[in-house]
Amino acid sequence: MIKSIVDKIAINENLQQDDLRLLLSISNLDELKTLYETAYRIKLKNVGNKVYFRGIIELSNICEKDCFYCGIRKSNGNIARFIMKEDEILRAAQWAFDNKYGSVVLQSGENSTPKFISFITRLLEQIKMATNDKLGITLSLGEQTKKAYQQWFDAGAHRYLLRIETSNRKLYKKLHPDDHDYEARLECLNILRDVGYQVGTGVMIGLPFQTVDDLANDIIFLKENDIDMIGMGPYLPHHDTPLAQSFNKNDFNNVHQLNMGLKMISATRIYCQDVNIAAATALQAVHPKGREMGIQAGANIIMPNITDAKYRTFYQLYDNKPCIDENSDQCRECLEERILNIGETIGYNERGDSPHFKKRRSGHLANADS
Ligand code: SAH
Ligand code: SF4
Repeated sequence: MIKSIVDKIAINENLQQDDLRLLLSISNLDELKTLYETAYRIKLKNVGNKVYFRGIIELSNICEKDCFYCGIRKSNGNIARFIMKEDEILRAAQWAFDNKYGSVVLQSGENSTPKFISFITRLLEQIKMATNDKLGITLSLGEQTKKAYQQWFDAGAHRYLLRIETSNRKLYKKLHPDDHDYEARLECLNILRDVGYQVGTGVMIGLPFQTVDDLANDIIFLKENDIDMIGMGPYLPHHDTPLAQSFNKNDFNNVHQLNMGLKMISATRIYCQDVNIAAATALQAVHPKGREMGIQAGANIIMPNITDAKYRTFYQLYDNKPCIDENSDQCRECLEERILNIGETIGYNERGDSPHFKKRRSGHLANADS
């Protein structure tokens, strides 16, 4: 089954939706191996054998939104809410810089108050100054106004991650309350691109009601929207959410979630080629070596958690989050060894920008010149 697709890939023929569906439906072990190896070859050709670390700081679990799947949704009254102090966040960013991580990611629940927007702006300015503008800064702070995105870009952020969650509008509606709007989220991605960010998006994989057709369309969505960076991972239940409470947890299968997550990475690498793809932490939640498996399936980015251990328990988007009681030094050592063990190198002190973004930018410049 996969042979005809591998032949198409070898002669650079574009894959169709049917081909993606077939790749995502593979269950035979030999065929799975061929899929991962094919994607890994394409990864080597486009982004090399280097993994880039983005140290993620989960700076607040205060959220205005109520996504049905997420453990820190605003209606979850069973968690204490926190926002890290400025000096704690700066210390974490400095740790990333001192440990030669090329970039940090600032992530939090969605907060659109003017106070929060200026708090982030100040942080960006300070991180930029303290690290001599050398540290890459990605934001993952949800839907905001153009003004806020622009202000943060001007203050030093240059990448933004905003998952579309699913490209199926009907499924999006099922997973969110009525006041959460797919079109508004899509528009945010367009604004981010216009402002000048490297744009990252992605989906959750293995959601209730999601079909293989949906996932194949998600991959096509990523390419059609000219996305530079892709962050996607398996959906995992959180016991305090309406979505997890709507089905029997025993029906939920980690092996299936892992395999679907890996197949999505491979199919996306094959289809989108020159983008950065993250091996999501959620992969590690379903298998101790999930992130390394993600790299071997075609991903090239890992986002080690560098948040103070004392906050990690309060930032659980799903149950059984890994590394919850390890500090950043422990995470760094175990990760480095794991990456080197699979024959990859680590892009220390490098930002590792998406090659797709660089091509997109030079295309724009060429058009502007002509
Ligand atoms: N509030 C911001 C950033 C934090 S949430 C935002 O929503 O964009 C980051 C991502 O976590 C979300 O985009 C979603 O894809 C993922 N997530 C939330 N709940 C999850 C769950 N139960 N399983 C897997 N991923 C989840
Ligand atoms: Fe808030 Fe993001 Fe969770 Fe939705 S996914 S509830 S926006 S933190």
